[in-house]
Amino acid sequence: MTHIHNSARGRAAFAPLAALACGALAVPLQKGCASVPVVTRPWSPPPASADDRVGVCPIISALSTTPHLVLEGEGGLDDVVLPVASFLVRAGGNLFLVDAGVAAAERRALPAGAADLVMGFAYSPAASVAAQLAGAGIRSAQLAAVLLTHAHLDHAGELEDLPGVPVVLSEPEAQSLGALPAPVRDFSTGRAAAAWQLLAARMRVVRFPEGPLAAVDILPGGAMSLRFTPGHTPGSMSVVVSSAGGTEVMLGDAALSARHVRDLVKKGPGGRVLDADPELAWRTVNRLHAWMDGHPDWRLRAAHDEQAVRERFRFRACARDLLR
Ligand SMILES: [Zn+2]
Repeated sequence: MTHIHNSARGRAAFAPLAALACGALAVPLQKGCASVPVVTRPWSPPPASADDRVGVCPIISALSTTPHLVLEGEGGLDDVVLPVASFLVRAGGNLFLVDAGVAAAERRALPAGAADLVMGFAYSPAASVAAQLAGAGIRSAQLAAVLLTHAHLDHAGELEDLPGVPVVLSEPEAQSLGALPAPVRDFSTGRAAAAWQLLAARMRVVRFPEGPLAAVDILPGGAMSLRFTPGHTPGSMSVVVSSAGGTEVMLGDAALSARHVRDLVKKGPGGRVLDADPELAWRTVNRLHAWMDGHPDWRLRAAHDEQAVRERFRFRACARDLLR
């Protein structure tokens, strides 16, 4: 377990990237800008580790209350409570964070109370990802990277509260940030383009190969990989971790729940309105459905799956087991 606590190991595995002038292989995050080089491999995997333990711990940083009808297009006006989940992942002797909570972005994006009215988010600073990691004795320096499924404010909210941690995101997602109208604060990402620019030096922008559900390996041997699952945002991606104990797929918002993939449930109007490209999002759900057909035992974890609400008091115990 020593390597889990050795922050330098995970960090050193990333090629050092300086902010460059805008170039052919770079994603400009702002006009006339420093920009971020694009890589086909965001991560030089560490040498084979004796530590082959794999584990996933959900971190629920907020709850959101939405009428069922709005979300699913059925089920009446009764409220459903959805979590905002990030995940602490142990794999290849490193700790990763999949997505980075809502709290900080919500504070930045909207006046106090307004986000609660508009988005139905309810959170407390004590439930922030950074606070829950600290409560489990985990410093941000121990995280090898934040794997950002997409750049919405409820997934990228706390990046500033995790200083220095590399942020891995897809090329189309980074490009969409570059298209934000600076200096106006963007509602869906919770930041102005200038705020994203301040994060540029930490970004590792991944170029996926062509094709549906294209994959980029994070760890060798399929132990951890990214899958391109666009539609909810232009560059949404999912994170897959595999071990002898099983495979888990963290979907971000590529689907609203595991059930939406397994049973091919279409989102209601309130769910679709949050998708940048609802048709592409539905194609992605269909592709995931076909993929999962051969893997009935794989665990699908969507960031807002109502089934995960019950995980909100379990993080500390889960992390204790994960770090053991
Ligand atoms: Zn979300």
